[in-house]
Amino acid sequence: MEVTRYLACYTGPERPGKVMLFVMRRAAILELSAELWDGLQADDVPDCERETLVRLGVLVASRDAERAEMRSIFERLNARSRRFTALVTLTLECNLACPYCYEEPFRGNVAMSESTADLLIQKTIERMDAGMDVVFDFYGGEALLALPILRRIAGQLSHAASQRGRIFEFNLVTNGTLLNRQTVQDLVDLGLKGAKLTLDGPKDIHDRQRPFISGSGSFDAILANIKATWDLVRIQLGSNYNRDNYERYPELLDQLLAEGITPDQLHMIVFYPVLPKSDSSTFGDFSASCSCSSEPWLIEASLYLREAILKKGFNTPKPLPSACMVEFLNDLVIGYDGGLYKCPAFMGQEDLRVGTLLEGIGDYGATYNMGVWKTEECLDCPYLPFCYGGCRYLLRLRTGAIGGVDCRKDFLDAVLEKFVRQDLELRSSPSPMS
Ligand code: SF4
Ligand code: SF4
Repeated sequence: MEVTRYLACYTGPERPGKVMLFVMRRAAILELSAELWDGLQADDVPDCERETLVRLGVLVASRDAERAEMRSIFERLNARSRRFTALVTLTLECNLACPYCYEEPFRGNVAMSESTADLLIQKTIERMDAGMDVVFDFYGGEALLALPILRRIAGQLSHAASQRGRIFEFNLVTNGTLLNRQTVQDLVDLGLKGAKLTLDGPKDIHDRQRPFISGSGSFDAILANIKATWDLVRIQLGSNYNRDNYERYPELLDQLLAEGITPDQLHMIVFYPVLPKSDSSTFGDFSASCSCSSEPWLIEASLYLREAILKKGFNTPKPLPSACMVEFLNDLVIGYDGGLYKCPAFMGQEDLRVGTLLEGIGDYGATYNMGVWKTEECLDCPYLPFCYGGCRYLLRLRTGAIGGVDCRKDFLDAVLEKFVRQDLELRSSPSPMS
């Protein structure tokens, strides 16, 4: 047996004689004596430890075989996948006027037509007939401004799924201003499970960053809706910060608690950076969730804000293996006009459209530079299961093209150990140390 190459080993003065291992493929954390760790690297493994170390992915039969296996990981995952997930844009209309909105250049009074909705329903039922469960995220603009068509799509798919013994579920990506109890109750019956909504920091910042079109603040309306619906639907709160204001974002956590919104009422809180866009405006809202950057201020902000969330007892994502949506055959972004994309940030960009509902998906291998991470350097990199070449959006932003990797090494070097230690120290039920 050999020690996997997809692993980080951390030592610290607080635990002399011990090493902490973080196994990337399983996100497993374990603490070993330095002596045992030295033994493992010399292939001297006590029999009593072997089974656990294999189960947690520390030991593999062969490092070269594991490396070869990683090369084709997405082919295997895609072949096994029985779930179709799509981010479905229902309308570009919105009742807020956020200055950083990345949809701003193509926002307007346009929505999914009845015939596009029919096509979406038909194509989705074909996927169900092929044995797939379906999870949609309905998105906008503001998705709840398109409630009639949302109800029609969800109603027909929920009915089709129950007739076929399949699952249909959906989430809302919403600004939260229209998420009242009656609406949520109706939608839960059609398969609504979760709502991702946004509060951009403490009230004064939020009201400046996310005003209604009239100019008045939306903070109070959103807070009232969280209080009215948290027991019906899983609420994830996102918050967009920038370099100049992130230090004030922990105030939001205090305001939530003061309003009686407690950690058990929210599924999780995630703070996201608002990132610059190629046209020198900005890219915000939840879509930046899968991107990261190694700018020093962003590293500092990520650590500071994550610690604040955990210290107040709220949940936030653990470090987990992840890859760009582009790698997953059954994950799509569907525009209001039936255009198909592989990333929400690329929606509306003709050259990055991968097909249409009517014509199906074309070959996007070259456009998205598939397999860009299958190099010696990436296949040998311990962070591969967390990166797979990084974010094509950020790369295009920096270089104007999707022509190489967006390397996350510096970012992960700077934050991963600290994220793991935050989880061990600050979560109320910490991950078990094996
Ligand atoms: S390019 Fe991929 S990783 Fe980047 S934001 Fe889009 S889906 Fe996420
Ligand atoms: S892009 Fe960088 S961090 Fe990502 S797998 Fe390759 S070498 Fe590692």
